[in-house]
Amino acid sequence: MPEYDYDLLTIGAGSGGTRASRVAAAHGARVAVAEEYRVGGTCVIRGCVPKKLLVYGAHFAEDLKDAQRFGWRVPENLEFDWKCLQTNVLAEVDRINAAYTTTLETNGAQIIHQRATVTGPNEVTLANGTTKTAKTILVATGARPLLPEFPGAEHGITSNEVFHLDAIPKRVLIAGAGYIANEFAGIFHQLGAHVIVMNRTKDILRGYDLQIRDRLLQISMMKGLDFRFDATFEKIVKREDGCLDVHMTGHDTVTVDCVMYAIGRVPNTDGLGLETVGIGVDDKGAVPVDEQNRTTCPSIFAIGDVTNRIQLTPVAIREGQAFAENQFGKGGASVDYDCVPAACFSHPPIAGVGMTESEARQRLGSVKVYSSDFRPMKNVLAGRDERSLYKMICDGETDRVVGIHMIGPDCPEIIQAAAVCVKAGLTKAQFDSTVALHPTMAEELVLMR
Ligand code: NDP
Repeated sequence: MPEYDYDLLTIGAGSGGTRASRVAAAHGARVAVAEEYRVGGTCVIRGCVPKKLLVYGAHFAEDLKDAQRFGWRVPENLEFDWKCLQTNVLAEVDRINAAYTTTLETNGAQIIHQRATVTGPNEVTLANGTTKTAKTILVATGARPLLPEFPGAEHGITSNEVFHLDAIPKRVLIAGAGYIANEFAGIFHQLGAHVIVMNRTKDILRGYDLQIRDRLLQISMMKGLDFRFDATFEKIVKREDGCLDVHMTGHDTVTVDCVMYAIGRVPNTDGLGLETVGIGVDDKGAVPVDEQNRTTCPSIFAIGDVTNRIQLTPVAIREGQAFAENQFGKGGASVDYDCVPAACFSHPPIAGVGMTESEARQRLGSVKVYSSDFRPMKNVLAGRDERSLYKMICDGETDRVVGIHMIGPDCPEIIQAAAVCVKAGLTKAQFDSTVALHPTMAEELVLMR
């Protein structure tokens, strides 16, 4: 009889937990995954996937307008059917949820559809009261939206609920100015809502290059989005007709139909029982781990958003893969957190890899910055006064490209290839020695002055 019920018990079947579990199972480990909700986690169920599909859906608003300049006769009484988009998006979520489930099962991992809490170094207790033992426990419980606290805060929604709205609100206030706020500001605006973005500081998308985010702010304002900066909630009062009066510091009260909080995400460690095995959490509630993803309890590991390193799906997947290879495969795997590309699917999107200009100026002795500020030819013919901006940050001593930052159509698609070059340590001269592919937007990468 084996000493434990399983070799690995993973808590959480999101992107990281699923990858770790299926790779461990493929290496012959006896694996179970406890998931209290749906297999797929935030990315598949209420994050990246449905969000990106809404971004596509919303973009048709501009595309249909622009199409007329390209000769298409578009009927004037165009209608958008939210229920149609919502139904199709949620059906796609169901499809991927089923695919994730199949992947786990065909690799031999058992899915336990229950919440699990840690009750010992090698033991979890399920919601139905039964206990399961495992040689190794992996905590992959992800993160959840941070909820603010003030009178009337309960009237707001988060990115968890946004995919299930009955209708697109006519007026929406989004709190926060990070990834989710800017992505949903674009979606709601394109789908016809009046959007107010409210943030506690003057910054949007802190962490991205200043000029790039300034350009996004300028374009967003030009499109008609409203911003309220240096504002914090005082209270929200729900009127009898369901409208919400939002009182905030430093600005007049606004009346909207929906308030959405996008003020960051907190690791899911509450009630997980980690303290019973001596695992503490940091001030954000995250589980500290070493390079091997091991917690202070030697048999318990953690990966993904619950560790609050870089809250991105592909990072969690890499961590899950490395964990499984090291514990159940041939070992020697690690995750390289340098030059992780990122994008915000705003309208237009922004993307970046490596150091921003200000980071480079702080960290390097000398810095050279090259840029291209241009109107994509599609925008020119469409009469759309929306300029793209690409920036290349180089080490002035070595000519090495240390960062690329972009705003403009399709830039998340372009940055993925550019990130390979930045990570490989290519120089500006090597970019320039590559012949441009004309006419594209990406050709600006080898033409920057
Ligand atoms: P972000 O961390 O991107 O942005 C948070 C925003 O909320 C900032 O504008 C910040 O203000 C503000 N804020 C932070 N804390 C508070 C607070 N206590 N009260 C009021 N405002 C606050 O968070 P998101 O929720 O948008 O996204 C969470 C994470 O999910 C992202 O960091 C990212 O890692 C991931 N994500 C990635 C996406 C992608 O890759 N495209 C898409 C969506 C999410 P300020 O900066 O001014 O202090």
